[in-house]
Amino acid sequence: SIVYLDGAYMPMEEARISPMDRGFLFGDGIYEVIPSYDGKLVGFGPHIERMNEGLGLIDINCRFTDADWREVCDTLIEKNGAGNLGIYLHVSRGADSRRHHAYPENVEPTIFAFAFEIPAAPVADRDKVKPYKVSSTEDLRWKRCNIKSTALLGNVMHFQQGHASGNQEIILYNANNEMTEGSACNAYIVKDGVVITPPLDHQILPGITRLMLLDILRKDGSIPVEERVVTMDEVRNADEIWLTSSSKEIAPVIELDGQPVGDGRVGAVWEKAQALYTANKYNY
Ligand code: PMP
Repeated sequence: SIVYLDGAYMPMEEARISPMDRGFLFGDGIYEVIPSYDGKLVGFGPHIERMNEGLGLIDINCRFTDADWREVCDTLIEKNGAGNLGIYLHVSRGADSRRHHAYPENVEPTIFAFAFEIPAAPVADRDKVKPYKVSSTEDLRWKRCNIKSTALLGNVMHFQQGHASGNQEIILYNANNEMTEGSACNAYIVKDGVVITPPLDHQILPGITRLMLLDILRKDGSIPVEERVVTMDEVRNADEIWLTSSSKEIAPVIELDGQPVGDGRVGAVWEKAQALYTANKYNY
């Protein structure tokens, strides 16, 4: 594939990054994944806004404008064929001359981007969608999960826990038995027709799919939405459980820790929400 690195496009095999890059040594960077279907990006504006917020939170001064990012995305789509793509954007603090924890001065951030294949967007049909099975475990990550950091070891270890037990994701909960999110996605329950998801704070990533889905549901008005604390007891008694991320949109969960969710079938509220998402996702 053709990738972007610090001002140039090149085959992936030719991309070279210094071993002194703080992204490599410390995971000191911010990233994004923007989905694109048939050349159309989903949520470009809010994705770039979140990246700029993350860069600000860790004091990385990246000179890229929205137009620069747009050009990189469009060029990667053009050079890699416009199918179902995730556009990965990455800014690390850059390569220092020595390994030292303090933020270095006068170091240029490293800017890297590539495109990778993602699954086709789900079709809003409860009989055709491939449902998820998940496990659950205590969230052992750090207290700044709102930062979309490239330092993903905590997420990777949790994902692997779910994967090793034969599940496609893992739902995390804090020391108070309150659901936080999945290892790579946001999490929701549906109870008596109401969609409920934890509020934004340092315990979860402010997902762009979450932002768009809640906005779409509120504008439509036919499915009530609540942002509030969700206990694991509520999760285990939910009618439906959903997961959202840029590469999966809304994924229905039919099994949690080996137990059926609701009646064990993909839910009717999921079908309606995914249809609304499909109809409105290019408006952001
Ligand atoms: N939470 C975590 C921990 C994630 O890694 C992701 C993205 N993969 C999400 C939530 C979902 O965010 P988005 O909808 O912006 O992809």
